[in-house]
Amino acid sequence: MNFYIKTYGCQMNERDSEALSGMLAARGWTRTEREDDARLLIFNTCSVRDQAERKALGKIMHMKKLKRRNEDIIIGVIGCMAQRMGDELFTELPHIDFVLGTGQLHELPDLVAQLVEERGVVHRAMLTGYSDDVLSGMSAHCFDENTPPVFGSVAITRGCNRFCSYCIVPYVRGREISRPADDVIAEIGQLAARGVREILLLGQNVAAFGLNGVLTPPPEDVSPFAELLERAAGVEGIARIRFTSPYPTYFSQRLIDTIAAEPKICRAIHLPVQSGSDRILKAMNRQYTAVSYLEIVNRLKRAVPGICFSTDVIVGFPGETEEDFAATRALMEEVGFDNAFIFKYSPRRGTVSAKHEDSVAMEDKERRNQLLLDDLAARSLRHNLALIGRRVEVLAEGPSARNPQRWCGKTSTAKTVFFAPIPGVNPGDMVTLEIARATHMSLFAGNISDLPDNE
Ligand code: SF4
Repeated sequence: MNFYIKTYGCQMNERDSEALSGMLAARGWTRTEREDDARLLIFNTCSVRDQAERKALGKIMHMKKLKRRNEDIIIGVIGCMAQRMGDELFTELPHIDFVLGTGQLHELPDLVAQLVEERGVVHRAMLTGYSDDVLSGMSAHCFDENTPPVFGSVAITRGCNRFCSYCIVPYVRGREISRPADDVIAEIGQLAARGVREILLLGQNVAAFGLNGVLTPPPEDVSPFAELLERAAGVEGIARIRFTSPYPTYFSQRLIDTIAAEPKICRAIHLPVQSGSDRILKAMNRQYTAVSYLEIVNRLKRAVPGICFSTDVIVGFPGETEEDFAATRALMEEVGFDNAFIFKYSPRRGTVSAKHEDSVAMEDKERRNQLLLDDLAARSLRHNLALIGRRVEVLAEGPSARNPQRWCGKTSTAKTVFFAPIPGVNPGDMVTLEIARATHMSLFAGNISDLPDNE
C-alpha cells in the first residue's frame, strides 16, 4: 500500500517525516509523491506562523475530493498544528481520519494499522499527549537505494523550555527532553555504516542537550553537548558534524574548547540573535544582551580562526523603533554574519507577545527586512571575494540540481562551491579546490571555467 507525506516548516519536521517514512516502510508501506496514488495521506504541519497553518489547511481541504472518490483512503494531520488545534481539526476538516500531535508521533504505524484493520468500525483517532518515548521511537531513516546518502540528520532533543514571547514552539512541541547519548551515537553509527559522511544534530536548543531542561546556563566547565560532539566525531566514517539550533547562553567555555579542538565540527555556527536592541531582547524574553551575545561570538572567533556565523532575526517586533533597528543592523555588521533568516514579525495566537499591539507598520517591516537583506548580500559577497585564489576543502555532494554537468559541495564554513566533475571523485569524498570566482551566494572552483555558466 502507498503512503504520501507532505511536510511543512522546519528541519525538525523534515526529520520527523523521514523517521515516520522509515517506520511505515518497515511495516510494508511504499512512499509515493502523488496524492492520488496513495491509500494513506499524512500532512506534517507547522504552527510557527498563521500563514503556515493556513497553507496546510487549504491543501488538506482539497483532499476532500480524493475521499469522495475513494472512501477507503486514510487522511491524517500530524505535527505542531495537530498539537495546537487537536479535535478542532475534525470540525474544520470533517473528511480527515486522525490527528496526531508532536508528543506521540512514534505511535503513527500502530494508529494507522488500527484504522486500516478496523475500517468502518473505528472512524477517527486522536493522540495529542506527550510521551518521552517519542524521542527514542523516531530514529528510523529511509534511504534511496540508488543514491548513497552523504548527509544524515539526527534529532537529539525535543521541545523547548525558553518561552520566548513571540514563539509558539514550547506550546506545541512540549517540554525540553534529551535523548540518551548512547542512542544518538548508535544512530550516527548506523548512518555512517550506510555511507553518511556529514551529520546534522537537531533540536530546538541543542546546546541544552543533557541538561534536563534547566534554564540557567551551565557552568563554564560543563557541556554534555560538547561530550556528545566529541563522541560523534569519534564515529568511524563521519567527516563532518553540524548542529542547529543552539541558544546563545549555553555556549560554555567547555563547548567552545571542544569546537576549537575538533576539526570535524563545522566552522559555521547558526546562533539566533533575533534583535540587537536590549530593550527588544527583554520584550522577547531572550535571556541575553547585545553585549553578552557579542562576547560569546568573540570568544568563538578567538578560539576558532575563520569561523563563520549565521542567525535568525525578527524585524518589526511590537514597539521596535528606528534606534532599535539600527542596533540590530550594527550588531549584524559587527558579527559579520554570512547568512541569516530574517522574519517580519507576525503575532502568533497563544503567545505572550500576541497580547501586545502589532505596532510597527508593514511598510516599515518590509523596509527594515530589505535593508538587512541588502547588508547581508554585500557582506557575504565581500567575504566570498576574499576567498578567490584560496584553496578550500569541499565535501562533494554530486551533480548540482540546476546543472548536472557541474558538481557542487560545501566547505566547513557552509559555503556552496561549484566545480567540474573530477575523475575518481564520488559523492561524500573530500576534495581541495582553488576558488577562481565568487558571487554573494556561491563560490566557483578554477576547474569550472570550461563549462557553460547558468548557475
Ligand atoms: S528558544 Fe525561543 S525561539 Fe527557540 S524554540 Fe525555544 S521558545 Fe522558540
